[in-house]
Amino acid sequence: MSWTQEFKSALKTREEISNFFNFDFPEVNYPVFIPIVFATKIIQAGPGSPLWNQFLPHAEENNVDMGRLDPIGDKVHAKNNQLIHRYENRALFTPTTVCPVLCRYCFRKNELADKDEIFDQKFQEAKTYLMENPEINEIIFTGGDPFILSNEKIAFYLQEFAEIESIKYVRFHTRTPVILPSRIDEGLLAVLESAKHFFKRSMVMIHINHESELTEDVIDAIARLNEQNIEVFSQTVLLKSVNDSTDALYNLFSALADNKVKPYYLHHPDEARGAMYFYLSLEEGRRIFAPLHNRLPGWALPQYIIDIPGGEGKIPAFNPESFEFSGELINRNGEKVKIR
Ligand code: SF4
Repeated sequence: MSWTQEFKSALKTREEISNFFNFDFPEVNYPVFIPIVFATKIIQAGPGSPLWNQFLPHAEENNVDMGRLDPIGDKVHAKNNQLIHRYENRALFTPTTVCPVLCRYCFRKNELADKDEIFDQKFQEAKTYLMENPEINEIIFTGGDPFILSNEKIAFYLQEFAEIESIKYVRFHTRTPVILPSRIDEGLLAVLESAKHFFKRSMVMIHINHESELTEDVIDAIARLNEQNIEVFSQTVLLKSVNDSTDALYNLFSALADNKVKPYYLHHPDEARGAMYFYLSLEEGRRIFAPLHNRLPGWALPQYIIDIPGGEGKIPAFNPESFEFSGELINRNGEKVKIR
């Protein structure tokens, strides 16, 4: 079956997942979407496993008393409906709201559920903004998930960005190689290969949270990227009931390093409404992360980072002086920001 057929035949309703998993899931405020090829892996992992917890509905999603609708301030930095300019040198480009799966912990779950406000098809406006702001030298394709777009569409955007002299780097943030590894096909590899001629660096950043996501077909997809000399990095979200132990993170980062993926970011979880049951404190996160300094070589140790709520951007989450959290963080401008 082609990746597009796998995508189209995904489980999309509570009834479909309840029948497939033979489990009575609660009604939740957010949609579900799981391709069958991936749902089969979740069944094998079983209830309560890291795979189950990440993708299947939980009654706590309906808790509206905690968490933020826009936890990292996307709306604060949205320059038009396809471009988010939070950092001086780089911009997030959001050409689609579609994902290969719907992750229950997603920090954009409220934005994706209310897509009209932030996402729209306004590409020329975004391109003009980039031309008028030459300090932006990197475009990060995100979403949704950019690898859900057709090869033609990805090639079109790359050619358009190649016309902007100041853009030197492109990066793709994607969960697709883990969920639909068959998407990493010859056509996509050719498009990614072509990007190497337009830009100084082009990179793929795979979103992966647990070693059990690295099944044989996913490892093969990563190998196909490596064989084309495409730089592959990873990003991981620290999540309660998924990977909240030093051993779980060690196993994941070791396995990624063994498969020629550079672990790049470990994100502290964002305070997203409907996903607070995955949240853990900064103190807990620091205690889990600290022993990795002793167990992993520096090149296999990702940066542990936190997005300051409200749009202040990413800063280091690990504090070598103390596990305790004072309630204040220092933003990119050196100013103290109170978050507790
Ligand atoms: S793939 Fe990424 S954007 Fe899509 S639901 Fe998962 S975390 Fe959110």
